[in-house]
Amino acid sequence: MKHAYNAVGLVLFINLLMSISAAAQSINTNPFNDGPYILIEGDKFISKSIENGKVIVQRSEQTFPTDFAAEATYYQGVTHIAAISDIHGQHDIFLNILKNNKVINQQHQWIYGDGHLVITGDIFDRGPQVLDSLWFVFNLEQQAKAAGGKVHFLLGNHEYMVLRGRLDYLHPNYHQTATLLNTDYKALFNEQTVLGRWLRSKATVIKINDTVFLHGGISTKLLSSQLDLHDINQHFRASIGLSKTAVKQHPIYSQLHASSGPIWYRGYFDAGLTNTVVDQILSILKASRIVVGHTSGEEIKQLNDGRIFAVDTSIKNGEDGEILLFNNQSAYRGTYTGEKIKLL
Ligand code: ZN
Repeated sequence: MKHAYNAVGLVLFINLLMSISAAAQSINTNPFNDGPYILIEGDKFISKSIENGKVIVQRSEQTFPTDFAAEATYYQGVTHIAAISDIHGQHDIFLNILKNNKVINQQHQWIYGDGHLVITGDIFDRGPQVLDSLWFVFNLEQQAKAAGGKVHFLLGNHEYMVLRGRLDYLHPNYHQTATLLNTDYKALFNEQTVLGRWLRSKATVIKINDTVFLHGGISTKLLSSQLDLHDINQHFRASIGLSKTAVKQHPIYSQLHASSGPIWYRGYFDAGLTNTVVDQILSILKASRIVVGHTSGEEIKQLNDGRIFAVDTSIKNGEDGEILLFNNQSAYRGTYTGEKIKLL
């Protein structure tokens, strides 16, 4: 009898422990903020966000554009260009680099005049401030345009991964957002969302004056396919959101999304890459240099005697980073504190 009483007591005790731990869990729920994710429903905009860990769904008072023209591939006559890459959810670092290098002011407004800012991919994944960067870039584009300048947000492998639902690198907050909103995370960027439509208008590779910008790089293997940069953008756009299987089955998409394709390629960082091979690539592209992110380093580097510039400066570590600045024919490292160090 006593034994049975103990067993009941033990069960009660375990239940008590479980309820304490459940209460502790709900108290410990990360009180993060996220969003807004703006859903397009007919002529209405529905805003979904997380405030202090709680879901807020409301009709947005603000209106948004819903049609975004596909970004052009080629640009001419640009006198100053800034290039930064692989922000990876480190929005504060991103803002500090732009402020200290006078692309934006202390109020985060565009002060780069008719210059072009190129983000060579990977705003998504790893860190917790992805939405902050997306909306900031979304707004900065309008300001740059009004001043005669331009912001180019080129898509990297992490944009393509999240948009097709591969979420291995997502910060835990975003998984929690998906759970709280009872949705697949990628659905928050589908074609019925403002950011989803905006992302689908983006380019993956552009050429400004005689410089090509993209996330990974253009390999000789890809060039043998005879695709030009405009074709590459069109095919990439058409492949957004497709499953890995669908991509693999398509003769062109499979090449574009392969490890030798523009968003994954790391061949420019092979020690054995000769200037002759780079010159062959440049001559087909009718370009003088290529600027890439994706492969992380400590600082902005020029490779192959200024034919290649590497601009992923490990912002993902959340400590610091750099920006590449072209002023006419000169190139500089713009450091985290805004120092300009001449490269060319
Ligand atoms: Zn990447």
